[in-house]
Amino acid sequence: MADPRGFLKFTRGQAQRRPVELRLKDWREVYNPIASDFVTQQASRCMDCGIPFCHQGCPLGNLIPEWNDLVYREEFDRAIDRLHATNNFPEFTGRLCPAPCETACVLGINSDPVSIELVEKSIAEHAFEHGLIQPIDPVAETGRRVAVVGSGPSGLAAAQQLRRAGHSVDVYERSDKPGGLLRYGIPEFKMEKWVLERRLTQLRAEGITFICNTEIGIDMTLSELRGRYDAVVLCIGAGVPREIEVEGRELSGIYQAMEFLPLANRVALKELPFHPMSAKDKAVVIVGGGDTGADCLGTVHRQGARSVVQLEIMPEPPRERPASNPWPTWPTLYRISSAHEEGGDRMFSLSTKRFIGSDGKVQALEVVEVEMKMTDSGLRFEEIPGSQRRIEADLVLIATGFLGPEKTVQNGSPLPTDPRSNIQTDRDWMVEEGLFAAGDCRRGQSLIVWAIAEGRSVAKAVDRYLMGESFLPAPIQTDTRALAL
Ligand SMILES: Cc1cc2nc3c(=O)[nH]c(=O)nc-3n(C[C@H](O)[C@H](O)[C@H](O)COP(=O)(O)OP(=O)(O)OC[C@H]3O[C@@H](n4cnc5c(N)ncnc54)[C@H](O)[C@@H]3O)c2cc1C
Ligand code: SF4
Repeated sequence: MADPRGFLKFTRGQAQRRPVELRLKDWREVYNPIASDFVTQQASRCMDCGIPFCHQGCPLGNLIPEWNDLVYREEFDRAIDRLHATNNFPEFTGRLCPAPCETACVLGINSDPVSIELVEKSIAEHAFEHGLIQPIDPVAETGRRVAVVGSGPSGLAAAQQLRRAGHSVDVYERSDKPGGLLRYGIPEFKMEKWVLERRLTQLRAEGITFICNTEIGIDMTLSELRGRYDAVVLCIGAGVPREIEVEGRELSGIYQAMEFLPLANRVALKELPFHPMSAKDKAVVIVGGGDTGADCLGTVHRQGARSVVQLEIMPEPPRERPASNPWPTWPTLYRISSAHEEGGDRMFSLSTKRFIGSDGKVQALEVVEVEMKMTDSGLRFEEIPGSQRRIEADLVLIATGFLGPEKTVQNGSPLPTDPRSNIQTDRDWMVEEGLFAAGDCRRGQSLIVWAIAEGRSVAKAVDRYLMGESFLPAPIQTDTRALAL
């Protein structure tokens, strides 16, 4: 184990964010680089618990106490092997994961949890810096051909695992470049794109082919694709946005977050000269208080918004864990992301009644206060009479979540869906003979760590389908969600 007294000697430390006034002037990552002695000290806080609850907290089953111990001993080369044993892309999760492992860490019962994500990111960065991450060739070629549709984290993880099992893998992507939400959804200030490119270089060198600008269902039908390959894996994400269907929605100046963020990313990357919906000098209202809303917030600040308000229908969460939400469950808490630290007002318990405009352009939102009620049929929001008010806006961004995968891929080949309109698979990740699905398109809008876990799991299922058995490691052996349906 790491230092048995580490958690008594050191308090929890985190990577420092760059000063707000500096980081608002650029699109670079908000965090400063981390000194290695600080990482070693933080890793030493791990108690190597008899029952490491952090394992359960992590959807990938990351071997957290093992690599905390190796980092404490400064054995970074062995640490990256243990990290890669369960996670293909720790440099993504080390930057972007909300770290359910940390909320499950046993130290969190009466102290601050181990800074697991910081250690994870540091191991990955050390490994890249020291040339420890190289292409890995499969032991033998199987002669089997697999197509993966979609190149987000689930598609990339599935592709890498399947290639390592010796299959020939082509990834089809409708965008001009691979990466899914890692490229055009998540802003630069959370993860710079060179981090993605660096990993794609490894995947290409391992023999994975990326076929971009190709939308399955439009440029090629799904049945044609299935005819060309021994197996096809759908990793197409959950891109259907939830709408706010109220009066005035048709006014100009109101956009879905995912109409706005990809263009902002392209401007930051200098792929576009300017943003046609830029927030510069505008009063911006972001509807939706979640992570996508926070990404819009950080983006409009950098574009020079005059003012920003973020609205949320849910009540303001508590600052500390309530007794009803004890360790090791995921706590619903008031979180202050880097974007919130940079400014803007947050308003809770508000619902949008209508958009008000003139000459076809949005000018304001009419909102009403709501009270959340738990009923037998689920959550209900009751309006508080007389609480209507107006919030000025010349740009409105809707970030109210997603409702499952787009249907384009199904053109001419309807697929089974679950009650939440996600693609339904059986317990072996199969939709139909030879057709599999994983990631957000299967489990609904989720997290990168879940996308990687699903990608690894579907790869094992596909390998077993093709070869009769599989030695690929996978976090989810049998899909319990499918069993429940
Ligand atoms: C703005 C935003 C910010 C987020 N931030 C975080 C975060 O900080 N941390 C976190 O853990 N999670 C975050 N998430 C969630 C996370 O990004 C997703 O859960 C994850 O990317 C899902 O991975 P995926 O591979 O299933 O799908 P995606 O990443 O959505 O990738 C799907 C890919 O499939 C392609 N595709 C779709 N249809 C077709 C077709 N017919 N033919 C060819 N290609 C197709 C798409 O172009 C896309 O590239 C965020 C989500 C959003 C929207
Ligand atoms: S739960 Fe926390 S202290 Fe225990 S092994 Fe995991 S990281 Fe270490």
